[in-house]
Amino acid sequence: MARSSAVYSPTGRFNLTNARFARDFTPISDTCPCYTCTHYTRAYLRHLFKAKERNAATLASIHNERFILDIVSGARDAINNGNYFEYRDKTLRNYYQMQ
Ligand SMILES: [Zn+2]
Repeated sequence: MARSSAVYSPTGRFNLTNARFARDFTPISDTCPCYTCTHYTRAYLRHLFKAKERNAATLASIHNERFILDIVSGARDAINNGNYFEYRDKTLRNYYQMQ
């Protein structure tokens, strides 16, 4: 996914090469603690993809892997706490922006 500039966020997947990110100086996700989100903006990552810099895919992969690990960790915790279905519904509702 990351090699094609697609990144995950709690509110859905998007493509960093989209023109709307050219002056977006926020991280991929405000709530993500990964190296990419704490050091780089969407605008810079977009620039890297447009310039065909190889580290663009690496930085996007670091974020996407962290996102997946956090989803799985949350599911594991929810299972242990007996509220997996609430977690699942909330996560999917946010991801697909449903009410
Ligand atoms: Zn991140």
